[in-house]
Amino acid sequence: MAAPSLEAVVALAKRRGFVFQSSEIYGGLNGVWDFGPMGVELLRNLKEVWWQAMTQREDIEGLDAAILMHPRVWEASGHVEQFSDPMVDNKVSKMRYRADTLIEDFIERLRNTGREQEAHYWEERLRQATEPRDYYRIIVEAQIPDPVSGTREWTEVRHFNLMFKTFFGPVEDTSSIVYLRPETAQGIYVNFLNVLQSSRQKIPFGIAQIGKAFRNEVTTKNFLFRTREFEQMEMQYFVKPGTEQQWFDYWLQERYRWYRALGIPEERLRIKPHEKLAHYASAAVDIEFLFPFGWGELEGIHSRTDFDLRRHQEYSGKRLEYVDPVTRERYIPYVVETSAGATRSFLAFLCNAYDEEDIPADRGTRETRTVLRLHPALAPVKVAVFPLVNREGMPEVARKLYEELRRHLRAEYDDSGAIGRRYRRQDEIGTPFCVTVDGQTLQDETVTIRDRDTMEQIRLPLCRVLEYVRERVRPPLG
Ligand code: ATP
Repeated sequence: MAAPSLEAVVALAKRRGFVFQSSEIYGGLNGVWDFGPMGVELLRNLKEVWWQAMTQREDIEGLDAAILMHPRVWEASGHVEQFSDPMVDNKVSKMRYRADTLIEDFIERLRNTGREQEAHYWEERLRQATEPRDYYRIIVEAQIPDPVSGTREWTEVRHFNLMFKTFFGPVEDTSSIVYLRPETAQGIYVNFLNVLQSSRQKIPFGIAQIGKAFRNEVTTKNFLFRTREFEQMEMQYFVKPGTEQQWFDYWLQERYRWYRALGIPEERLRIKPHEKLAHYASAAVDIEFLFPFGWGELEGIHSRTDFDLRRHQEYSGKRLEYVDPVTRERYIPYVVETSAGATRSFLAFLCNAYDEEDIPADRGTRETRTVLRLHPALAPVKVAVFPLVNREGMPEVARKLYEELRRHLRAEYDDSGAIGRRYRRQDEIGTPFCVTVDGQTLQDETVTIRDRDTMEQIRLPLCRVLEYVRERVRPPLG
């Protein structure tokens, strides 16, 4: 199956009610998206499957911390000082770019035109760049043109902090500034003691959380891939110092397995070690997916030592230690984190599922079938019920079956148009099963059930439909 174009996925997402532009009737808001009737189901299913994999085990607790946090949290975490991207403006077109992305795109263009040696040189320079002036030098020396105006008139490169600020309470002054959290992880660190003391966990154990995060990204692109408001699924696993490598390996394997179990094939998934490790990190890799626009990170697995808890201990003045109940040993736990994007994985699963297939149609012609081959556990609608025709008692039987099914799972009833069109609509939203009540049903109480992927139909007794579907839409374990 060839990779679809991003445009095809975006068009389907809009047409079938998965994703809409935020405030679309006002022209939209850049980098912010709304999830429509089908999208909200897919996103909820995705988060639910993650939540089950994480919390239906002995050693992980769940948490839902608030989006707004004490401003000191972001000083302790380093976000106030360091959570920024290098930014540069073109003086002629007034376009603003992330300096590193501008350079990366330039390098790619060199590569695409066979200038491998130059590409390699600038890549090395970029790898070593840390300060705004390093990026600026590269842009000037490489004479990188603005992709829009073609000119080379650039401003200095500046750091731009990605945290959204707002005011807390009625007075709008600097003492009332709070931030919209740029990640959910800090809510976990600051609740480490609360969870430890209120649960019966012992180290090693983890805390999992799903929630919104906000980043004022310099540029947003590629649909849901880089947005200003998004959702994360993060888990921080607290371990004894010295055991972090073993847990890092374990979690990397678990998380890779999770994407595979939900249908992402090996060739579209890769593990990429970080080129630059943060000064406190002892290991860090990304799990990447092959999007239509290239490889992109889905999730980071990081071994973060005791950096986070130690910093919060220092800034809050509260001891964030663990006392081993047997040995009485006292230490600040090390953390291994799995940090995934829910909305970014949503895009990955959508791209992965999208397929166009050439199939035989009426009277010897052929047609293109668009089908979302989503894992049944992720599919927004699990089963659709159709009466073959709207007479001879078929609608009554079909309606009754639908009423029964929808008490247990998300089902749809559709009695409009030709049966082929009804199948097509369900294929486009990824419904794994379609049940048709036909003439034979009225005689022997059996129905046809059609499989989305193979389009094959079998006959089943009416009373077995629920069990049949339920067994097949269960989330994969782990
Ligand atoms: P990137 O390098 O793509 O900016 P990051 O390394 O800053 O990502 P993390 O801070 O590790 O990302 O965040 C964890 C996860 O959150 C990412 O793997 C991604 O899935 C998701 N994520 C981060 N930023 C965004 C964003 N702007 N839009 C959508 N998802 C995001």
